[in-house]
Amino acid sequence: MDLSTRAIEIAELLQKNNDSPETELTTSNERELLIAVCLSAQTTDKKVNDVTPALFKKYPSWETLADANLEELQSYIRQVNFHKGKAERLIKASRYILDNFNGKVPDTIESLIEIPGVARKSANVILNEVFDKAEGVVVDTHVTRVSNRLGLTSNQDPKKIEKDLMAILPKKYWRNFSGNIVLLGRYVCKARKPACDKCHLNQICPSAFKI
Ligand code: SF4
Repeated sequence: MDLSTRAIEIAELLQKNNDSPETELTTSNERELLIAVCLSAQTTDKKVNDVTPALFKKYPSWETLADANLEELQSYIRQVNFHKGKAERLIKASRYILDNFNGKVPDTIESLIEIPGVARKSANVILNEVFDKAEGVVVDTHVTRVSNRLGLTSNQDPKKIEKDLMAILPKKYWRNFSGNIVLLGRYVCKARKPACDKCHLNQICPSAFKI
């Protein structure tokens, strides 16, 4: 079986067992999602969900966030890793969105990655969740680890992994593939000890029961 056929089989199996995965970040509009996604880098979604209700209440618009006092903003997101730098970038991002996009979250990857604090991975999540568009494959630590275990890539660099996955998977799978792999990585194919006995992919995975 060639790599692309196997990747499609994996994508289908994942889809069958977990249709339409969505981010576990709790947000109610695109502004909140962009903020939450920026906060979620190297932090669990749970930690982000713990701080965002008070954050969104205190700063209910791009304007309020753009004018925020840096130290006060930092205090609202203190539980999140790297909160100081993230607070600075949130203020810059808010100003950038107001000045360049009239306060609207843009719907292309090129525009999204111009925004301070929005990396390609975040841009892909925003496109997937807000605009139902896939211009790439979201690659985070889970996708990195699980894609390697599944033999779909041998790279560790997220940009190279994304390129590898885009080359072997038809575009229609991109959105759900990432979401499903993230969930698999989070709950089954964990970093230390994958639960291969509970994994829907154990018949097709070259690493099954070997780690
Ligand atoms: S079979 Fe095991 S190693 Fe392979 S994806 Fe599933 S949990 Fe991970």
